[in-house]
Amino acid sequence: MSNVEKTVLVINCGSSSVKFAIINPNDGHVYLNGIAEYLNLPEARIEWRFEGQEKQSQDLGNKADHDIAISFLNSNILATRPDLLESLCAVGHRIVQGGELYTEPTLVTDEVEAGIEKCIPFAPLHNPAHLIGIRAARKAFANVPHVTVFDTAFHQTMPPVAYRYAIPEELYTKNGIRRYGAHGTSHGYVAAEVAKQLNADPENFNVITCHLGNGASVSAVKNGKCVDTSIGLTPLDGLVMGTRCGSIDASVVFFMCDVLGYKVEEVREIFNKKSGLMALSTTTSDWRGITEGYEKGDEKCTLAFEMFCYRLAKYIASYYVPLGHVDAIVFTGGIGENSYLMRKRVVELLPEVFGAKLDLEANSKARAYLGGSGPIHSADSKVKIVVVPTNEELVIARSAFKFVK
Ligand code: ADP
Repeated sequence: MSNVEKTVLVINCGSSSVKFAIINPNDGHVYLNGIAEYLNLPEARIEWRFEGQEKQSQDLGNKADHDIAISFLNSNILATRPDLLESLCAVGHRIVQGGELYTEPTLVTDEVEAGIEKCIPFAPLHNPAHLIGIRAARKAFANVPHVTVFDTAFHQTMPPVAYRYAIPEELYTKNGIRRYGAHGTSHGYVAAEVAKQLNADPENFNVITCHLGNGASVSAVKNGKCVDTSIGLTPLDGLVMGTRCGSIDASVVFFMCDVLGYKVEEVREIFNKKSGLMALSTTTSDWRGITEGYEKGDEKCTLAFEMFCYRLAKYIASYYVPLGHVDAIVFTGGIGENSYLMRKRVVELLPEVFGAKLDLEANSKARAYLGGSGPIHSADSKVKIVVVPTNEELVIARSAFKFVK
């Protein structure tokens, strides 16, 4: 008989990939994780690793799609572990965009699928892929409840002053043009986690959460609720990102189209895929590469490094407005959890009036890839500064498990 406790299968579908993990929602134990990649392409493949075992991989066949990948997970990978298959009590799906329709995790029904479809205009790359994944998973794992967890849900508590744009009202009321935010599952998780770590009451605790990965955003969280965030209608807004430009004057689009003759699709491609750290450094979108260049004195990498930190420090400083008083600043995501150089520079850039000070040794030690995290502020800092590794999969697993209970 199995000694595996109840588990949740967490699925995160992209346009050409499916990431999956089987997690114990109570203690975060990961029994299996993996990814199917290059879906719909000749080189479609899947790789996975059971806890304590070597990674395995398999070609899925020419142009294998999400359906094939998810049914391979069920019929081939999990078939070797009937105990794990039996322990599954829910499937949790990560959904990038739930618009104003979804403010919390939701049990998947045909109506919910239709709702996710309605939000496609605001996440044209992600939501269609999520739907394909949901449909494939509902077929493959028909006997357990499926639950969607929306990245935008955490940001639905923002007030109109933060989420409205100063454009004609009907563009919001009729067409839904407003700030929605992104990475909400991560912001919510680290905001709650830092309060726990600091023994603070999360409902009386103000925190600025910096989720810094290839995609990046900052949120202001007041007493556990999001009151502002840097991502807008789509994940293009806000910080300088790996290949996205972040905040930019909308007139740049008019200028490029009207004067320089670009097509709108070309501008979209440039802003999303050829901008950010990639454009500034001209060599890499990866923060490790940027840091290496910065340390060697490469001019372009230095500009990329400085602009990333400068933009982030400006956002952090601006979030003192909605929060009034800030108890903690949290760094998370691949860059936030690891780059002590970035954190040092960002804190240096914050004006003296905020009184944010680092313990340089603690900062240097807090690198998640070496197992380090936790508080990095000095004893006389006016604000706590903490590195908290994010765990979006655990949040999704817990959210899905609630429905089973
Ligand atoms: P996403 O989930 O958005 O794809 P991640 O959260 O995995 O991204 O973060 C990826 C970023 O984290 C990359 O820019 C990568 O260079 C950076 N990163 C990962 N490990 C380190 C490290 N040890 N030091 C500095 N940056 C790192």
